[in-house]
Amino acid sequence: MTNVIQTDIAIIGAGVAGALAAYHLSQQGLKVALLDAGLETSRPEAVERYHRSTSKGANSPYMSNALAPMPQSSDDYYKNVGTTAFNGLYMRGVGGTTWHWTGFALRLRPDDLSMQTKFGVAEDWPLSYDDLAPWYERAESEMGVAGFMGENYGAPRTKDYPLPGIPSSYLDGYVSPRIKSMQLSLSPFPQARNSIAFQGRPPCCGNNNCVPICPVHAKYDATVHVEKARRLGASIYSSHVITRLNSNAEGQIESAEFLNGRKQKGIVKAQYFMVACHAIENPRLLLLSKGPYTPKGVANSSGLVGTHLMSQMGFNSRGLMPDPIYPYRGPQQTSGVVEGRNDPGTRSQKAAIGTSVMNDGTHPFFGPQQTAAKLVAKGVYGKALAEQVNDLSSRQLRFNSSIEILPNKGNRVGLHPTLKDPAGLPVPEINLAIDAYTQRGIDWAIERHQQMFKTLNATEVTHDSQAESDTAIIAGTARMGRDPSRSVVDLNLQSHDHQNLYILGASAHITAPINPPTLTIAALALKAADHLQKSLAAKTRGSA
Ligand SMILES: Cc1cc2nc3c(=O)[nH]c(=O)nc-3n(C[C@H](O)[C@H](O)[C@H](O)COP(=O)(O)OP(=O)(O)OC[C@H]3O[C@@H](n4cnc5c(N)ncnc54)[C@H](O)[C@@H]3O)c2cc1C
Ligand code: SF4
Repeated sequence: MTNVIQTDIAIIGAGVAGALAAYHLSQQGLKVALLDAGLETSRPEAVERYHRSTSKGANSPYMSNALAPMPQSSDDYYKNVGTTAFNGLYMRGVGGTTWHWTGFALRLRPDDLSMQTKFGVAEDWPLSYDDLAPWYERAESEMGVAGFMGENYGAPRTKDYPLPGIPSSYLDGYVSPRIKSMQLSLSPFPQARNSIAFQGRPPCCGNNNCVPICPVHAKYDATVHVEKARRLGASIYSSHVITRLNSNAEGQIESAEFLNGRKQKGIVKAQYFMVACHAIENPRLLLLSKGPYTPKGVANSSGLVGTHLMSQMGFNSRGLMPDPIYPYRGPQQTSGVVEGRNDPGTRSQKAAIGTSVMNDGTHPFFGPQQTAAKLVAKGVYGKALAEQVNDLSSRQLRFNSSIEILPNKGNRVGLHPTLKDPAGLPVPEINLAIDAYTQRGIDWAIERHQQMFKTLNATEVTHDSQAESDTAIIAGTARMGRDPSRSVVDLNLQSHDHQNLYILGASAHITAPINPPTLTIAALALKAADHLQKSLAAKTRGSA
């Protein structure tokens, strides 16, 4: 017998986008099914697995559903075919990628939304900062963003942050006055991390462990809203891998097919569907859904599903400071350099860069162990070893810069022609290449790191041999716009092709600037859910 789930609204993907939408719609009394390909995670068990893990990678605390693998590192699940290796990581499990995000919750700046008009590069978003501002406020209060009113990274605000700011680290306080001579300033990041007890979760106690897991749940993750939705009556289905969406001749999505944890097939029937599987799995699912009425895949009459993939490049430099600066404590990053994210004089020529002062030393998790191993190899033992490890570990400093990649139609996610996952579905095939604009940004970041270390009188300065694509930022692939021939979803993230389908997440984003994407994902998910609820209410009134 086929398993059938019947609901008003089926939301596919229980990350921050799907969970916030499920919560909002459940609050309105609607019947919501929230389906996720992965497992539910027990935090204590995940912390235990993390302690035992030797890799300590971003996904190391988490178990996969065997039918829904997730990338542990580049190319072990998806396949790169471009000239630049894409390294994006994401989690496939209830709560999604916020389990191991860093927790920065920045708004995009007004100029990030109109880069073509302001700088003559990329494209403008079809909505303005003023359109987004009320949804940013709502997202910040749902996620409990902590910040200092005057510190907004160029995104103006009229209301204070919901929680007081997270204090800057000792290290931030050391670096900040010293780089002023370079006309650089450090600003504390707004963060979705509790500075005080909030909604039953404790304040941050500085474990320096936010990626890959916050052991005490001071950092926000989407399980907060999965639980809130569940309490309001939403049905949560873990280990339900959605394998395709089916459209009828009228362009309505009639059903979604799934494979559950017992490898049984089933279908979900709903009035409305929201796909919220993040910017690689969203296009993958849409492209897997070719059918008689959707020959290029669902929502893909424009042929643009999967195109305009964006990430960022990342570059690290390390040095030894003359004084103790006490890394390896506090949230892994608390402040970044403001300049370079949005300079009108340079952004038309080269990519924006964002430089962070890393509280997690030369290497998160392994810095002091690596120091000890090097000393032992030199024959240092006993008390001398302890003293030198303490001394060196307290003086190690790393800068990390992120460098923007512009939207480019040729950078894309497709379906691999031969490689399949354990569910028998083609794995994502990824084509990424950076251009001269991004390369000029990388050169700028290297030069900045060199100058900063020189200004700080650092010794033993080393740099990554090359910039690599960032693990955190993934966007584009189902872009937003007014014109159905040039975009996949409209300003409410509703598919141009299918009136009862919404596609949530950074797949809709037009640019991937240095202020990171997740607060915008959350704001737009709430906007989409509100639009769906109002459309449904209007329909119900019409038929009454
Ligand atoms: C190491 C790291 C650090 C980061 N730090 C930051 C930061 O500081 N600030 C910031 O703004 N962003 C950060 N990010 C990015 C951020 O985590 C993501 O942008 C965000 O979590 C995406 O949310 P989402 O809900 O769109 O997708 P996800 O959270 O990825 O959720 C998608 C869900 O869909 C499910 N799914 C996938 N395929 C299927 C399917 N076929 N059927 C059913 N379900 C499916 C998955 O299991 C998953 O639960 C970071 C990312 C990483 C990896
Ligand atoms: S520093 Fe520790 S307590 Fe604070 S958010 Fe990160 S992991 Fe959680």
